[in-house]
Amino acid sequence: MIAVIGLGFVGLTTALGFCEKGYEVKGYDVDEAKSEGLRNLKIPFYEADLPEALQRHHGKGFTVAHSFAEAVEGADIIFYCVGTPGKEDGSADLTYLKGAIDQTLASDKLAPYPVLVVKSTVPPSTTQNEIKPFIEAKGFKIGKDLGLANNPEFLREGYAWADFVYPDRVVLGAEDEKSFEILRETYTAFNAPIHFVSYNTGEFIKYLSNTLLSNLISFANEQSMIAKTIGDIDIPSAFKILHEDARWSGEPAKMTSYVYPGCGYGGYCLPKDTEALYMQAKSKGYEAKMLADNLETNERIKSFMADEVASKVSKEETIGILGLSFKADSDDIRQTPALDIIQNLLDRGYKNIIAYDPMANEIFAKHYDVAIRYADTLEELVDEADQTVLVTAWKEFRDKAELIKSKPLHDLRYFLV
Ligand code: NAD
Repeated sequence: MIAVIGLGFVGLTTALGFCEKGYEVKGYDVDEAKSEGLRNLKIPFYEADLPEALQRHHGKGFTVAHSFAEAVEGADIIFYCVGTPGKEDGSADLTYLKGAIDQTLASDKLAPYPVLVVKSTVPPSTTQNEIKPFIEAKGFKIGKDLGLANNPEFLREGYAWADFVYPDRVVLGAEDEKSFEILRETYTAFNAPIHFVSYNTGEFIKYLSNTLLSNLISFANEQSMIAKTIGDIDIPSAFKILHEDARWSGEPAKMTSYVYPGCGYGGYCLPKDTEALYMQAKSKGYEAKMLADNLETNERIKSFMADEVASKVSKEETIGILGLSFKADSDDIRQTPALDIIQNLLDRGYKNIIAYDPMANEIFAKHYDVAIRYADTLEELVDEADQTVLVTAWKEFRDKAELIKSKPLHDLRYFLV
């Protein structure tokens, strides 16, 4: 039996979605008018297919409880779908969520091992640092008395029903095995990949998704302001033609490869073109802050990565640099992040650096006067290095991942994971 607390967009969809899969669901909302409306099959917002779903399940699998206690009584899983509005300072307000959990724990008719699932969107570390201590302070032991998980919701308003019933993925952040098992079983009916991750990862994935979207929108908007400032640019056509780029959907270089972290972009085009557009807009009187931040982030990621390496490698050790070109399948070493990272390490006093690139050893050595040695083969590099630093995502490195992993590796491209 499932309880759903909060019957707004997410809660009502969740409740009816589980009914659709054959579960018995009790929903509860503090808003009595909303609850009464639902009992009379009235939904206070528009969402396609929900009215029909409510009609199908109300009074059968779905009940709108008259009290909090009634909803959670005997529930095996309790989904919290209450609002987490932004506070004045921008942080998330957890009052409703904590209030609902507090009310749950006050019930004396809980199931033997209820799994409490935070479906509301909460910032990374909330479950670990706020919710878990909150529950434990009330004398409950997670993993023994009850389960705790987060389960971010990715539905889009307007398509809530379809997105919930046919999800592209299910993310479950938890620590206790039993919660994973119970939730795995519950979600199997949805026929989607189920990912079991840590509390923080579960929460982070939701923000990763939403901030990507907000970044893309702001990016498009900033570009439109740059274009207007420069003048005589057909903005909608420019964007529609941009959308024809095969990378949005095609192989081999899908757009997803650009939305994956690494140690910075380089090469002939992205650095200079980003800078040039920034300067052009500036010369016309428009300060393109996102482009400025984009350029700064590209510098920061390199020093951040060098800091990480330096924190783990002593000056006496030999560092093996895997890859010198700015990207795989190319010997282009213009503005390659490898140069900045090597220079950064040399400036810190690392003297024993050896590098290997399947294509770019010679051209790198010719263009850049840095005091490092070069290995002719990957085997030679791994043999000589105490620790390695993967800078370029060459296929050879994946093919010989086992060899590379025989030494401590700093994988700056998250490539061999
Ligand atoms: P909503 O405001 O539509 O619904 C929240 C409901 O919770 C309200 O009806 C409110 O009366 C009820 N509530 C508050 N405290 C309660 C309590 N103690 N007991 C019972 N009910 C209580 O909000 P929503 O759009 O459904 O969003 C809910 C959460 O899901 C938020 O954290 C939101 O960020 C997240 N989310 C929303 C969407 C979306 O598209 N709307 C998508 C994914 C995630």
